[in-house]
Amino acid sequence: MSDFTLTPSSETSAKKLMVSLDEAQAQQLQLIGNFSHEMRTPLSLVYGYMQSIHRRNENLTDLQKNALEIAMFEMKHTIQLLQESLDLARLDCHAICLRRESVPLHGLISEAIAFSPQVKSREITVESEESNILVLADAARLQQVLLRLIDNAVKYSDTAITIRLEKSGDYVAISICDRGCGIDLQDQLNIFNPFYRVDRSRNRDTGGAGLGLAIAKVLVEGMGGTLNVYSQLGEGSIFKIILKSLVSSA
Ligand code: ADP
Repeated sequence: MSDFTLTPSSETSAKKLMVSLDEAQAQQLQLIGNFSHEMRTPLSLVYGYMQSIHRRNENLTDLQKNALEIAMFEMKHTIQLLQESLDLARLDCHAICLRRESVPLHGLISEAIAFSPQVKSREITVESEESNILVLADAARLQQVLLRLIDNAVKYSDTAITIRLEKSGDYVAISICDRGCGIDLQDQLNIFNPFYRVDRSRNRDTGGAGLGLAIAKVLVEGMGGTLNVYSQLGEGSIFKIILKSLVSSA
């Protein structure tokens, strides 16, 4: 018999520990949410003033214009980070209501590819045996998740990307597949945690604050689905969303 057996009392203590860890995490997220909310409004105002000075562009030397553009770039990133932190905190305490509506998947994916600011000349293929798949989801939020996953696939690979749709029983799997750098097993366990980045030294050209996947996972789970990663270092990654399918009336 193993030396390490859980007695009823140690099991209760372990459960209490888990609950207090969950509570501590919820409090931490609430604090981040409050802070982000307080900071976002004044910074958005300052950013608005900067934009208007930049637009008028009167009496600015090249040096001043350049400094203003750098400041605006940094400000935009900071506001985006605050917005993402706020979203995560609100999702965690269920302050954001997700819709459960019938969403035509092919149209949504085509829009996500067209809207993705990173795609440009990258080849993205959609593979699907069926042409009219409906899922139960919040269309705008699912779009947000797809944009994030496509954006990551583009950032962390440099060859063609495939989006595969597979229907199985009552569920639909949406896989965003790339043949990029891949993610090692230890990092796969952490990438859905807020603020986790595999290469912490990487600059902002290739990554953000490590909030995108955390938000994507909470959103998909809020729609009753799952989001998982399957990856091999040096081979590429597959981010797989599974959602409930709906019967098409067509
Ligand atoms: P970030 O804004 O840093 O990209 P994310 O939450 O979207 O934050 O991703 C967390 C980390 O997961 C990233 O820093 C990156 O290292 C890794 N990652 C995400 N998508 C991929 C991918 N398709 N291929 C390789 N690594 C990825």
